[in-house]
Amino acid sequence: MNKKITYKDYNEKDPNRYPFFRYHPDPMENGVFVEYDSPKTCQCCGKQETLICEGPFITDEDVSFICPECIADGRAVKAFDMEFCDVSSLNRISDSDKTEELIHHTPGYYSYTFNDWLSHCGDYCAYEKQLICEDLKDPQLLKELKEDPEWIESGFDLDDAFIQIHMFSCLHCGKHLFYIDQFFD
Ligand SMILES: [Zn+2]
Ligand SMILES: [Zn+2]
Repeated sequence: MNKKITYKDYNEKDPNRYPFFRYHPDPMENGVFVEYDSPKTCQCCGKQETLICEGPFITDEDVSFICPECIADGRAVKAFDMEFCDVSSLNRISDSDKTEELIHHTPGYYSYTFNDWLSHCGDYCAYEKQLICEDLKDPQLLKELKEDPEWIESGFDLDDAFIQIHMFSCLHCGKHLFYIDQFFD
């Protein structure tokens, strides 16, 4: 049986070309890094690369293919005056080095609207994934979600079709946190 290749496999094979992103450990799983059979040209460094980031990119420029290395080392941000994610004032931490690492050196994630990043224990959390129905069959995860203050406060129901639930985990205490994004017509 073919084992699914993850970003961790790429990283272990060539950590310079495929750097580890602690705030977003598996951007392949989340469709942010896309694997191609034939290489694409990184718009920043011009390298031929089969594993490429297609967004999200917060920039006025027309950017569609960036290699993992140019994200990690900040070249893409310099070249295109961009950010990869937003952080609300509520979740922004005081350590500006960590904020810099997050918004300028970490691939973002796709969401309906505002792409917030959660923090806990004085640091940004790792983005895990957008939860799908299948995930919520896990009773432990469902319990965690239902006890999460943001979920309780939101007043949403799991059947609400216009919400997305994004799961993060704290890099220090391991707690799962949930960001609820909602779509308005
Ligand atoms: Zn590049
Ligand atoms: Zn924590």
